Amino acid sequence: MCGIVGYIGNKDTKNILLDGLKKLEYRGYDSSGIAILDSEINIVKEKGKIVNLENKLKLENIQGNIGIGHTRWATHGEPNEINSHPHFSSDKKIAVVHNGIIENYLELKEKLQNKGYKFISDTDTEVVAHLYHSYYTDDMLDALCKVLRDIKGSYALCIMCSEHKDKFIVARKDSPLIIGIGSDENFVASDIPAILEHTKEYYFLDDMEMAIITKDNINIFDRDKNLIKKEVFKVDFDISLAQKNGYDYFMLKEIFEQPLCIKKCINAKILDNDIFFEKFSITNEQIKDINNIHIVACGSAYHAGMVGKHIIEKMCRIPVNLDIASEFRYKNPILNKNDICIIISQSGETADTLAALKLAREKGIKIISIVNVVGSSIARESNDVLYTLAGPEIAVATTKGYSTQLAMLYMIALKFGYIRCNINESTYKDYIKELQSMEKYIKNCLSLEDRIKTIANKYYNIENAFIIGRGLDYSASLEASLKLKEISYIHSEAYAAGELKHGSIALIEDNTVVFGILTQDDLLEKAVSNLKEVKARGARLVIIAKEGYESLRDIADDIVFIPNIKEEFMASLSVIPMQLLSYYVAINRGCDVDMPRNLAKSVTVE
Ligand code: GLU
Repeated sequence: MCGIVGYIGNKDTKNILLDGLKKLEYRGYDSSGIAILDSEINIVKEKGKIVNLENKLKLENIQGNIGIGHTRWATHGEPNEINSHPHFSSDKKIAVVHNGIIENYLELKEKLQNKGYKFISDTDTEVVAHLYHSYYTDDMLDALCKVLRDIKGSYALCIMCSEHKDKFIVARKDSPLIIGIGSDENFVASDIPAILEHTKEYYFLDDMEMAIITKDNINIFDRDKNLIKKEVFKVDFDISLAQKNGYDYFMLKEIFEQPLCIKKCINAKILDNDIFFEKFSITNEQIKDINNIHIVACGSAYHAGMVGKHIIEKMCRIPVNLDIASEFRYKNPILNKNDICIIISQSGETADTLAALKLAREKGIKIISIVNVVGSSIARESNDVLYTLAGPEIAVATTKGYSTQLAMLYMIALKFGYIRCNINESTYKDYIKELQSMEKYIKNCLSLEDRIKTIANKYYNIENAFIIGRGLDYSASLEASLKLKEISYIHSEAYAAGELKHGSIALIEDNTVVFGILTQDDLLEKAVSNLKEVKARGARLVIIAKEGYESLRDIADDIVFIPNIKEEFMASLSVIPMQLLSYYVAINRGCDVDMPRNLAKSVTVE
């Protein structure tokens, strides 16, 4: 979480930092600030969204050729101006921005206080400013190296020193940081979109690496201050992908990008009716020998993993353990030889998921990751990475990220099932064909927009909702429920439809809204019974059903029909009306859809 930008060069530093922060605002929006070095370091910071900082900066005439900026997602200390970054050393000669958590900050703070350092904020980050100051003589790199030896936790750090007007210095561990290569100017940022309009060439810093950045040079060092050579990474994506292009919100734009993203994701892997995972290090023999698959993820990626578990178990007959990353890492998971781990993360920087990956690797388990952001930490730490190719996803609530994760999981299930001879060639080809039509079916679902808007207008002021389904429809319900609650703040619970009667049905009363997702033939009758049970207790029913389930009209207060495709893929369609519904409900409630309260896009803290 949090976004960092740094610039050195002859252009307008203030604007470059501000524009960069705006592009990173999805990472955190509790407060923001910039530091610019001229004859001395000037810091301006402000509580709330970046527009507040922008307004404040209109009144300040600060300029210089070197600066750092930060948009915060508070972990330590409330989101007020004092706790905002950048943080100064007491003599105002050193300014620091930080993404992550300094876990041993209390211990370090006490030591520094005993030496006479005065703290003004409640953050963990301020420790870095004073600690750096305590080590600094004249060598910026040496001081940083000593700081890194003392601090524990996760960090992307960017530090400026008023005595060095020609450079700033950076380091990272478990939080993202990229360096943008310019001509006569250089950049750093937490993510590519922040500086994409200035450069398409980057270095990715690895854990415990540091860099000194001047206008003309970028020198990267390992933890022992040895100069290292890094590969230049070139990106070819278009800046328009990170802009709203006429849509009111990124979320709506991203919902409507899904047909194209799915097509790209699928076409990149399918050739002549066959699925290819290029440069896969896992051999067919190893795939045949897999005993268990562990899918590990957080949030929506976990919900995608739940669909994946279902399909992989069906297509491959391999047992799949599905775990939330923050649980997996602390439960001493049983990982055996011939197991593999599938790690799912849109950003590729999710802290808990990254830690889970490292744990599995230490135990010798092969890692396949499903990641959207190219070159991200999870991608680089995996044995094999499958990029979802959804392009930059800016809205905090994922849509196209989730949909492309599903597509990738389907392809894994099909390919592995085929290699293991669990599905025959004609079934395999048949499913591939259906996958290739997915784009068209998703377009059909998007054409329901007006109908969904009407439903949203009718139900937007509810305070509670249940979303229920069985089997794959339950997995879809979990994702639908998360969408609704995260952007509209309606309290919503997803339940396996058959489970409701074991307690939670007590909450159903007159007019409680229950959404039902029904797409699975063999579960239909049972699911209908569950809907009738809540209807009998006064619930209003809004049903998302597969075309053909016409009789459901009799029990539904409102119903939306989605195309009838192979049942294993239905979660890709049922989620679309629920994304649109959540969006329009949130709009009706006046919520900031792209930046919901208390959240941030890429969760780089534990
Ligand atoms: N832990 C730091 C703070 O609370 C940085 C949080 C962030 O990554 O935004 O200020």
